[in-house]
Amino acid sequence: MADCIFCKIATKQLPTDLIYEDEHAVVFKDIRPKADTHLLIVSKQHIPSLAHASADQGPLLSHLLLLLPKIAQQVGLKEGFRTILNTGKGGGQEIDHIHFHLLSGHLHSM
Ligand code: AMP
Ligand code: ZN
Repeated sequence: MADCIFCKIATKQLPTDLIYEDEHAVVFKDIRPKADTHLLIVSKQHIPSLAHASADQGPLLSHLLLLLPKIAQQVGLKEGFRTILNTGKGGGQEIDHIHFHLLSGHLHSM
């Protein structure tokens, strides 16, 4: 989508240090980290939120979800991690492009 910041990152129109990339997803650091480790697992396909996802996008959603432990292992998180998926304004979603937060370590004050 033209004006979507995460689409721009996924298509390299905006420079970002990618932690991971595959055919369906990109992973990069949150620009305003809320914990010692704060990564975003972002679909390459523009889906505005979980509330907009359809049944045929189930395999993509499970792919994103299963990336979380894989990325956690890749970046050396041995003690586990927290996963957040904000949906809609009432859920605190700021960027209308589906993404999972992966957080670990000391939480930063907001
Ligand atoms: P959410 O509130 O779930 O939509 O989360 C959006 C997250 O994206 C926030 O934690 C922001 O700090 C983060 N963010 C916004 N712009 C960028 C960017 N250009 N690069 C990395 N993270 C970003
Ligand atoms: Zn997008």
